[in-house]
Amino acid sequence: MKVLVINAGSSSLKYQLIDMDDESVKAKGLCERIGIAGSKLTHKVPGKDDFVIEEDMPTHQTAIELVLKALVDPDHGVVSSVDEIDAVGHRVLHGGSVYTESIKIDDDVKKVIRECFDLGPLHNPANLMGIEACEAAMPGKSNVAVFDTAFGMSLEPYAYRYAIPEEYYEKYKIRRYGFHGTSHMFVSAETIRYAELPEGHQRVIVCHLGNGSSISASIGGKAVDTSMGLTPLEGLVMGTRSGDLDPAVVQFICDHENISVDDMLTILNKKSGVLALSGGLSSDFRDLSQAAEEGNEKAKLALDAFRHKVVKTIGGYLGVMNGADAIAFTGGIGENDVEMRASIMKHFEFAGIHIDPEKNKVRGKRQEISTPDSTVRVFVLPTNEELAIARETLRLS
Ligand code: AMP
Repeated sequence: MKVLVINAGSSSLKYQLIDMDDESVKAKGLCERIGIAGSKLTHKVPGKDDFVIEEDMPTHQTAIELVLKALVDPDHGVVSSVDEIDAVGHRVLHGGSVYTESIKIDDDVKKVIRECFDLGPLHNPANLMGIEACEAAMPGKSNVAVFDTAFGMSLEPYAYRYAIPEEYYEKYKIRRYGFHGTSHMFVSAETIRYAELPEGHQRVIVCHLGNGSSISASIGGKAVDTSMGLTPLEGLVMGTRSGDLDPAVVQFICDHENISVDDMLTILNKKSGVLALSGGLSSDFRDLSQAAEEGNEKAKLALDAFRHKVVKTIGGYLGVMNGADAIAFTGGIGENDVEMRASIMKHFEFAGIHIDPEKNKVRGKRQEISTPDSTVRVFVLPTNEELAIARETLRLS
């Protein structure tokens, strides 16, 4: 069975065609500048040169049609006809409080995705466009929605409710949803599988550290806490997002700088985080590590602040679950930044959690990095959101 995975953004669309018999990626690619002049599709097939189509893509519908054209292309394609694609899995940002897991798409599902435009204004409209484009281009195929918020739906009210008047929860469903859910779901399940954690000993902390960063605590693959909130702004210090801050900061800066709350949110999402703490140097951890090594104090501050918040969050979750059986690092930083992993885990030596410096040299591949006597096993476990979406699509088709 072959599953097409679609991740539609407002002006871009990423795809992967996965053969579920062996979970191999047959082809993947990216449509850029949809609806903007100069659109292009880059199609990649393992072992072949990239295939680039520069053609107008005024809508997501035309983008999907080009993707299908590339997939069946006699020279660069990987299937002889669109009929060989059995189902389509869609990444959808927000399912509100309605969907606690992935679901086969019908009119009711599309209605809920539309009703959540308010909660995911940048992503949900694009996700829906991707779905409707696939329905039009491949009538009769099963389409599945995999929600980034679904993983957070198993939180108890004391973990997801904000301590603000109830009316805002009742009227607007203002609560903590958590994001990166597909990644947390995949990595927590894979950690349980890879580590062969027995039932009753499946308390896992997943540190998804990348440009966007979040940490989850889960038991048996079900989330009990997660660091992002109503939006992905809450929680850790990120590449360009501030993470947690006193809401009074927003009022103070808006009043003194005479800017709107919308402007302030743009600053908190796009101009904050390690980018801001490093004095505008970079949001990329490779640049920051190099600058810090060369004595740049602001880059060092940015890395220290990032680590401090990660440590506080892991420590909090160790308390929430009364310990942990495994901690897994994933995301660009979690999978590759050897020094950051080591320096985070150093804070937990008091609890008998120890990293083996040799094993910790691993980059981008799954490996246990703790010592045999560590009280909690620690892993590097690369995330694979597309495969998670494809597995959910297979399960529901
Ligand atoms: P992501 O958003 O998951 O793609 O992660 C992007 C982040 O991972 C960026 O801050 C990169 O600097 C960081 N990253 C990627 N590779 C490395 C590496 N080899 N060492 C340190 N950080 C890395």
